[in-house]
Amino acid sequence: MSYGCYVHIPFCNGEKCPYCGFYSIPYAPYLADDYIPAVLEQARRSSFPDFDTLYIGGGTPSSLTLMQLETLLDGLQKIHPMPKDCEITVELNPENVTEELVNTLERCSVTRVSLGVQSLVQRQLMVLGRKHTVDMITQAFELLRSKSFSTSIDLIFGVPGQELEEWSTTIGRAIELDPDHISIYCLSYEEGTPFAYALRKGLISSVTAEAEQAMFFTALNRFEAAGYEHYEISNLCKPGKYSRHNMKYWTGEGYMGLGAGAHSYAPGPPRWLRMAAVKNVRGFLGRIASAESIWEFVEALDLPKRVAEFLMLRFRLVNGFSVEDVARNLPEIDAIQFVDLLKPLEDSKHIVREGGRLRIPRESLFISDAIILAAVEATDRYIRQTALRLHAVTDDIDMADYITSFHGPEEPSPQK
Ligand code: SF4
Repeated sequence: MSYGCYVHIPFCNGEKCPYCGFYSIPYAPYLADDYIPAVLEQARRSSFPDFDTLYIGGGTPSSLTLMQLETLLDGLQKIHPMPKDCEITVELNPENVTEELVNTLERCSVTRVSLGVQSLVQRQLMVLGRKHTVDMITQAFELLRSKSFSTSIDLIFGVPGQELEEWSTTIGRAIELDPDHISIYCLSYEEGTPFAYALRKGLISSVTAEAEQAMFFTALNRFEAAGYEHYEISNLCKPGKYSRHNMKYWTGEGYMGLGAGAHSYAPGPPRWLRMAAVKNVRGFLGRIASAESIWEFVEALDLPKRVAEFLMLRFRLVNGFSVEDVARNLPEIDAIQFVDLLKPLEDSKHIVREGGRLRIPRESLFISDAIILAAVEATDRYIRQTALRLHAVTDDIDMADYITSFHGPEEPSPQK
């Protein structure tokens, strides 16, 4: 099982989009000049296993200069040589896509680009406060199509004031663009964002839950009719063109996160570790420069947490999971007994068992959060009893030694 590698670029082009709750700061050349070598230094200090997918995300990776992008991609390939078939994805904003950028990405062996389209209706792009236009998206696609990249686009629905008709226009134009992969997200109002403030003050109104649901299913139906396969709640792709990198997140494989705020996951046995680097860019740079631990937290996930995570991630997949998946990811529990505990949810038709796999039926995907919570509750008692029984057996593993074996001599600070 190979790892994935995620590199976080915390910079964006100027002002933040008013709905965005992610941590990012405006691009500043001098900071980015320090940031790229710091990320490479973190990669040098890490001793994660080899990886076969690399994902450069953000923020806005395309806010970097061509030289910075090239330094990052070339540097990573020197530190961690990647296999020939490595999936290398870079997120791009349409306003940054130029012939020079596309040539640079090709030279650096990038195989896949993910374009932050969001909408193909100009009015919606303006409501979202995006800096690009529909024309820029079309031109970016023409440039990308001249190379052999696999293409992915992100779309947002449930935008304030959005009608189903406008969303349908975006869907139709997305089909015309013909990307290999499409992600659809429902807008959420993140605390602390201008959108959340405007909603509270009554300056904008959210789309009703019924309308959101209609938009979700309209997208699924139309994209499927156009030849896309729905493989994860928010993701569709042409046959075989799923995101190999994101599949690692959903199926519990390990990944190394590089950069400020990036999370890493090192699955066991014997320990399942999650860790995150400090989020603040200057803090991250300072820790790298002084050779201090970069971790903001390191957590050994206990069995109840891993089970909740397993259910949360696996039920996002349209084809769900099998008993063998349970046995592989949660080796301490009796997989058959675990799956049997979910029987009441099968009886109420909230989940279905078919061909040896358990999954949430299509009509219930929009309420998957509530179903996953019910699944966690249904298995909770058995999982807690098992965790208590195992505690005495696993507690004597030396945590510091174990972490060091994965991440080199730098010892992370204990969990906050
Ligand atoms: S470009 Fe993306 S990460 Fe940056 S502010 Fe907008 S939504 Fe957030």
